[in-house]
Amino acid sequence: MITERKCILAIRKTRKSQSFLNKFEALEFAESMPQIYEIWENNKTPIVTEKLANIEYYDIVKIPNRLIGKSEEFIEFCHEHGFESGEYITGKVYDTKLERCFLCEIANYRGFRSLDLYNQYVDNEVDCIIYESPNFYVVPELGALKQGYLMIVPKEHILSVAQFPNEIMEEYYEVCKDVEKILLSTFNGSVVTFMEHGSGPSGKSSHKKSIVHAHTHVVVDFTLDEKYKKMVKLIKCDDISKAKDVHYFSYQEGTGGDLTISMDPNVYVQRQYPRQVMAKELGYAPEQYNWRQNEFKEITHTTLYMLCKGLTKMAKSKSNQRIRTRTKAFVLGFSKR
Ligand SMILES: [Zn+2]
Repeated sequence: MITERKCILAIRKTRKSQSFLNKFEALEFAESMPQIYEIWENNKTPIVTEKLANIEYYDIVKIPNRLIGKSEEFIEFCHEHGFESGEYITGKVYDTKLERCFLCEIANYRGFRSLDLYNQYVDNEVDCIIYESPNFYVVPELGALKQGYLMIVPKEHILSVAQFPNEIMEEYYEVCKDVEKILLSTFNGSVVTFMEHGSGPSGKSSHKKSIVHAHTHVVVDFTLDEKYKKMVKLIKCDDISKAKDVHYFSYQEGTGGDLTISMDPNVYVQRQYPRQVMAKELGYAPEQYNWRQNEFKEITHTTLYMLCKGLTKMAKSKSNQRIRTRTKAFVLGFSKR
């Protein structure tokens, strides 16, 4: 969840409680008031010993001792009290190279002979390829919470935009511009936002089910409010390749807007961060942000239907030749579904 409550957790400090609480990504022990403020600024919640918890005027949450050692119950407790604990990191590291990658599978049309046949017959609509360039393809966002929400994906298994080889950067920006144009025109929108969670180069993850294959989320008419940008300390970035060795979250409003990035390892960025903010603002129930649990098939269907209509209309204009060529197989295949 998004942590809006600025509270201080208090616990009787024992070796057991300390080692248990230290494993939560978004909690941190504090010894002094300046430290408490620093932890809040990093989008985490501070923990103090009961001795320090006597500070007046602060919002103190006492952690019941019975929850120590019970990670699921503890996470639930945190959510009920309005803050995020982060995930419980067991220390186990998963090598994502050993897992199958569905974004690579889509890049290969899942064995279909041609892209228009793929778009006509592929099982799930959400796998339809709307746009294809030599090195990229565009598909609907998984579990899109609103219409006009897509993903730009490199065909090659690269782990972040920051790690893209130079040769494909220009093409990537071209794709971003085309997708922006398509979304603005189809949904009569006013702004298109680009967001990415980049994975580090090792492909190792403490989360079993991370998608490490790079994908940029693109959505029409959704922007993060200032307070949410501040929450994850987004700062201006002139060169994305500076983040090639780390995990990061990047954010940009419009292809002409400033690219901003959160890459400070001390700052906690919630999983599916923009989706969590979006779900909250659109009034969804908690946990509905999670694409693993909610497919929102009807939203995906509407998005694809509108895009097919919009692209057919756009194809008539001579100024959109590149878009027309790169989306032809979608219009052809999807219209036959
Ligand atoms: Zn892949």
